[in-house]
Amino acid sequence: MKLIRIILTISICATALIGDYIVFKSKYSESLVFRAFADSTVHASIGFLSAVQFFSHEIGLTDQARLYNIAFCTIISSLIDVDHFIAARSFRLKDLTKVKERGIFHCTSYWILLKTVLLIYSHITRRLDIYILTFMLTLAYTSHHVRDANRRGLWLYPFGHTPPFSKYFYIFLLMILPSIFAYLYIVMKPAVHKQTVRYYDSIV
Ligand SMILES: [Zn+2]
Repeated sequence: MKLIRIILTISICATALIGDYIVFKSKYSESLVFRAFADSTVHASIGFLSAVQFFSHEIGLTDQARLYNIAFCTIISSLIDVDHFIAARSFRLKDLTKVKERGIFHCTSYWILLKTVLLIYSHITRRLDIYILTFMLTLAYTSHHVRDANRRGLWLYPFGHTPPFSKYFYIFLLMILPSIFAYLYIVMKPAVHKQTVRYYDSIV
């Protein structure tokens, strides 16, 4: 398991470095369509690797549940960028470049609030499905926001934006956050009734 974690950590680092090069510095970077597609792919790949690294710890779910959760995290990591279209009120890529403000899915405070509500709810109801969903959302938005923070900082409404993160700092965060969240998952896990576990297995 340790070797897997080392390989995954290196893969996250390599994906971020190669991904940034392909998105911003390759010969196709001037194409908006290429950049949008490549950027989404890099976000999805990092979300995927983060979820796999998370599950390389002693999380204790069935293989099927892990697969569904990894797929969910991968999709959300990439889907966060749909708020560019919402902010631009247009599906044309050209209109996106004119938009100065960021959409709500890029607001880190929004996700922290949502996560806190879901965590409290999962503890009150002892719903393991909501608890794991909260961690998948957390992995998705942190990996996406931290990577975007290299260009624009984190948006911590109502306090404004942090300065942009340096390349090495953001990649370092991407590499360690999945393990930190896995540790938090284990120590904060609610005591679950047997019935709730059965319910979880039937839907995930
Ligand atoms: Zn983004």
